Amino acid sequence: MSGDRAAALRAALAGILDAPGILAGSDIGERYKQDWKGMRGEPIAVLRPATPEAVAATMRVLHRLRQPLVVQGGMTGLVNGGVPLEGEVVLSLERLNRIEAIDPISGTATVQSGVPLETIQNAASEHGLFFPVDIGSRGSCQVGGILSTNAGGNRVLRYGMTRNSVLGLEAVLPDGSVVSRMGLMLKDNAGYDLKHLFIGSEGTLGVITRAVLILLPEPTSRDTALVALPDFPAVIALLRACRRRLGARLTSFEVMWRDYFGLVTGPLKAGRDPFAKPHPLYVLVETLGTEPERDRDALMETLGDFAGDHADTDAVLANSIAESNELWRLRDASGEAARAANPSAGFDVSLPITSMEAWVDEIHGALQALGVASIQTYGHVADGNLHLVIGYAKERPEMKGRINDCVYRSIGALGGSISAEHGVGLEKKSYLALSRSTAEIDLMRRVKAAIDPDDILNRGRIFTGGESK
Ligand SMILES: Cc1cc2nc3c(=O)[nH]c(=O)nc-3n(C[C@H](O)[C@H](O)[C@H](O)COP(=O)(O)OP(=O)(O)OC[C@H]3O[C@@H](n4cnc5c(N)ncnc54)[C@H](O)[C@@H]3O)c2cc1C
Repeated sequence: MSGDRAAALRAALAGILDAPGILAGSDIGERYKQDWKGMRGEPIAVLRPATPEAVAATMRVLHRLRQPLVVQGGMTGLVNGGVPLEGEVVLSLERLNRIEAIDPISGTATVQSGVPLETIQNAASEHGLFFPVDIGSRGSCQVGGILSTNAGGNRVLRYGMTRNSVLGLEAVLPDGSVVSRMGLMLKDNAGYDLKHLFIGSEGTLGVITRAVLILLPEPTSRDTALVALPDFPAVIALLRACRRRLGARLTSFEVMWRDYFGLVTGPLKAGRDPFAKPHPLYVLVETLGTEPERDRDALMETLGDFAGDHADTDAVLANSIAESNELWRLRDASGEAARAANPSAGFDVSLPITSMEAWVDEIHGALQALGVASIQTYGHVADGNLHLVIGYAKERPEMKGRINDCVYRSIGALGGSISAEHGVGLEKKSYLALSRSTAEIDLMRRVKAAIDPDDILNRGRIFTGGESK
C-alpha cells in the first residue's frame, strides 16, 4: 500500500525532484525515521528538494494530492515534532544547504534553511562577524529547525531567542504559494510582520526555505568561569552582581545542580570537576566583549568581590579557549546525560526566578515520592528556564505519564510555561492548556485552519484539529 503510494508520488513529482530527491522503501535511512529522542515512524517516502523553487513545486503536488507531510531539519528537536506519523511523507530540507551571501556592511547572512547552525557560526567568523544563537546541537540542527522552534540556548540573556536574530524570511505555504520578505532592514512596519507567523510555529504553517540572519561584529574577548555555590540565594546574588558589574558583557549564566554536575563529572566522565570538594550548585558564567584586558579584569574583580562577601564559594577562570571549551563541555554534556537516564522524561519549563528555589525543592520532593530513579537539574536560569531529566525504571512505563502530570500541573499552577524553548510538538500537546488559555488555543487553531485548511502540514503537532472542515 505504502509502496503504491510512493510510486504514485514518484510519478507525480517527476520533473520536479531528481533521483536523489525522492527515497522510498529500503532506501529510506534510519535518520528520517527516528528523532534524537528515539521516537520512530515509517514515512511513505522521503522528499529532498534541492532548491527553494523545488520545495514550492513539491508542495503544490502534495497539496493537489492532499498528501500529509512532516518537515525535517537536523532531527535534533526534543518534542517529537519531526517524526513521521502513519500515512505521512517526510520533506527534508537537508539539500537546501547554501549560504547565499554574507554582507559585512548590513551585518547579514542570507542562507537556505538546511544550513547547519555551526556552519553559519563558522562562516560568520571568517568575515569577523558573529551569529549569536548557540545551542548544544549546533553541529546538527539547521536554520529551518532553529527558526521553526524559535530556539533559545546559551546566550538568550543577552541576544534573545532566535526570533531576535532574524531580519527576513521565505516560506512555502501548504498550497505551494511562496511568501517571501527577505528584507535587509531592521525597520519595516509596513503591515503585519509575517515572518513571526513562521518563527516558533514548529512547521505547522509553512516550510521555511530561506532567511536573512542578523550578524554582529565578532567579540574579541571571551572569558569563562565556573563558580561553585552553597545554595540558591547565592546563585541569585551572583546573578545580580554579574548583571550590575558586567553589564552587556554578560552573555551566559548556566546553572547546574549537583545531581547533574555529579553525573557528568563522575560516571559520564564528560569533564573534570576542578574543585576540591562537592558543592550543591555550579554556575557557568561567560562574558563576550571587545576590550580583552578590561573584560577579563571585570570578571575577575566581580568574582573576587563576590567570594569576599559570600562564604563557601569557589571559582575557576579559564585561561585559554581550550580551557573555556573544557568548562562548556560540562554544560554541553546534557544530551549525553539525558541518554544515560534511559528511559526518562525531559522537561524544559520556565518560571519566575523568584519562584525557582521553592519550586525545585517542591518538585524534587514530589518526584522522589513517586519513586523516580534519578533526577538531573540544570538550566539557563537567568532567563527563567529550567531543564529537568527524570529517569525511571524500564519495568514501570506508566511512570512517564505520572511524572509528566506531576511536573506540568505544578508549573501550570504557578503560571509558568510547559515549554520555555523546545516547543510542543507531539510530546507536550496534551498539556498545552496548562500554559495557554482557551482563547489563545482557539486563535492558534483558526490561524492554522486559514493557512492549511486540509491540515496536511505537520498535522497534529502543537494541537489537534487545525482543519476547517
Ligand atoms: C544536545 C541538544 C541540546 C539542545 N539544546 C537546546 C537549547 O539549548 N535550546 C533550544 O531551544 N533547543 C535545544 N535543543 C533542541 C533542538 O536542537 C532545537 O529545537 C533545534 O532548533 C532543532 O533544529 P533541527 O534542525 O534539528 O530541527 P528538527 O528537529 O528537524 O525539527 C524541529 C521542528 O521544526 C520543524 N522544522 C524543521 N525544519 C523546518 C523548516 N525548514 N520549515 C518548517 N519547519 C521546520 C520540524 O517539523 C519540527 O517540528 C537541543 C537539542 C539537543 C539534541
